[in-house]
Amino acid sequence: MKTPPCPLCGSNQNKIIDQIGSNDLVTLYNAFLGDDIQDLLAGIELIHKLKCNDCDLMFSWPFVLGDERFYALVSLKEDYYPTAKSEFEIASQHFRQEDHVLDIGCGVDEFAAVVDRYTGIDINEKALGIASGKGLAVLKTTIEEHAKSYAQRYDAVVAFHVLEHVTRPDYFLRAALECLRDDGKLIVAVPSADSFIARMENHLLNLPPHHLTWWTDSALRCISDLNAVELVEIYHEPVQANHLDAFVQTYFLDALRYLMGVERRPINAHPRIRDRLSNRLAFYLARITKPIFHKKAANSIGHTVTAVYQKTKPRI
Ligand SMILES: [Zn+2]
Repeated sequence: MKTPPCPLCGSNQNKIIDQIGSNDLVTLYNAFLGDDIQDLLAGIELIHKLKCNDCDLMFSWPFVLGDERFYALVSLKEDYYPTAKSEFEIASQHFRQEDHVLDIGCGVDEFAAVVDRYTGIDINEKALGIASGKGLAVLKTTIEEHAKSYAQRYDAVVAFHVLEHVTRPDYFLRAALECLRDDGKLIVAVPSADSFIARMENHLLNLPPHHLTWWTDSALRCISDLNAVELVEIYHEPVQANHLDAFVQTYFLDALRYLMGVERRPINAHPRIRDRLSNRLAFYLARITKPIFHKKAANSIGHTVTAVYQKTKPRI
């Protein structure tokens, strides 16, 4: 089977590492969202998960995109916007007070509070209130006033939980870098494919059409090989408190499946009795033992990884 080139590095050296039945995906999503998403997958029987041998990016194929209705349904899910945002903290360490920051994608309002701490401006009362509540020094002014000094120039570009949703991360990154001055910072945050979430079963929010690509540290490092940037830092948040249940259950489910000699798959729409039993057992074991997992969670890779790059002069 001829596979498509990698959407990050363009290599044809990739292999199929998994397959997801479109019907299974629809069944699970419909139960999860309480609505039918079949139209998004019309005419598609299988979604392949591929891994690039050259840059380590994993990507789905064919790409199935979520539409406005899909994202509206997904946004109703409580965990979609986690309260802890380590990426904001990491990003803010790489800004100077006078920097002009371009924020691409989600979390704009909340991040504005962090950015305005450095530039010291905001007109959003709520953001100002949040920023003030965090003890940040902020000033209230308009973007028009601010833009007089910073028009057509960005010292930093951030993209938090955006890259995994786009079909062409190579184009996305190139465009983001075009907006950046030399020596400016590009900061991206994605779900870590090196973390426990990559081992979770039926974790729909980490599957198409929600996520189209999956990023290991190796793939994030490759961004600096493919573009005129240097990697400054890769930061993994530890397992967050609101993810502790999933982390511990995944730990036990991994162990039980290993003992039973059962291969773990990203999706299991038709669990057998042994799968149901191991799921139930993992749930109860996690509930009983959760308190003793706090230390392990603090020392384990959590959901989000943040990568910081610095733009260099274009290579000749
Ligand atoms: Zn690649």
